[in-house]
Amino acid sequence: MGRDLAPGEFVMGIDIGGTNIVAGVLDHKYNLVGRCKKKTHGKNRGQSTEERVIRAANVALEIAGTPSLKAIGIGSPGPLDPIKGIIYDTPNLAWNNFPLADTIAKAFGVPCAVDNDVNMGTYGEWVFGDLKNCKDVLGVFPGTGIGGGIIIDGKMLQGFSGSAGEIGHMTIEVNGPFCGCGKRGCLEAVASRIAIAEQVAALAARHDAPYIFENCGTDLANIRSSSLAKAIEAGDKKVEAVVRKAAYYIGIAVGNLVNVLSPEAVVLGGGLVEAMKELYLQEVERGMKEHALPFVRKGVKLSAAKLGDDAVLMGAAKMVLERLKD
Ligand SMILES: [Zn+2]
Repeated sequence: MGRDLAPGEFVMGIDIGGTNIVAGVLDHKYNLVGRCKKKTHGKNRGQSTEERVIRAANVALEIAGTPSLKAIGIGSPGPLDPIKGIIYDTPNLAWNNFPLADTIAKAFGVPCAVDNDVNMGTYGEWVFGDLKNCKDVLGVFPGTGIGGGIIIDGKMLQGFSGSAGEIGHMTIEVNGPFCGCGKRGCLEAVASRIAIAEQVAALAARHDAPYIFENCGTDLANIRSSSLAKAIEAGDKKVEAVVRKAAYYIGIAVGNLVNVLSPEAVVLGGGLVEAMKELYLQEVERGMKEHALPFVRKGVKLSAAKLGDDAVLMGAAKMVLERLKD
């Protein structure tokens, strides 16, 4: 680490999310020297998602003083092909079999590689967080959906399909609520921010969540992670119970995955964890204790993500340099 770029060389990482696109230019020591955050769906409706990505990248480059880049790494929602750099189908970004890596490589005249955003977030935390000495790491990122990243023996697990780590669609409650994927009782259906917001909106409508009712109303889109954290601080007990249960469900999933993968470290990231670190660590630990075998979970380090908003772009920047070496 640190020997991939010589002094004066730069790399770019881009995080394409459902809400924001973040592009960052990193120097040879992986210091962020230029950064631009743009709404994924901005006011300029005529602009395609790829045009917005290119615009964000150009602004980040200008801020960094327009250095020449060695490569560009991108973390994007899937499903995607990390080898060919093709995004298969993301209705939210209006991409269908879209050659993202080639498009960006052409626009900037440098090599580009694409991988799943949560994989890149896990990779970023692994390389730049305090986990570098752990060879086996599980990353779990609850947010609007729930993604997972798995590092086995120092390598990101892609799987046969290239989509390994879809832990949001592990069945947690056989007869549970419907998930966006069409199945019932997926982890995402019981523990994502949408699942939490649905229950909290119902509480607010019944006047059982006074802080949420006054500050967010009952619209799911307005019940953000930060509002949930503030409601709990303000003493909304029923909101706290809902969030704790969701976090505990993640603990059940983590416990099961610990049994299968035997990781040395588990890192929790994403907006919900960022807003309520202690609560998430407590409940995931409880779920893990109850569902992982004592011998397998012994010594497993459970922690919250350190890089916050920049984990995906930093992981993606590092990943593209790793691939250049191959
Ligand atoms: Zn599902």
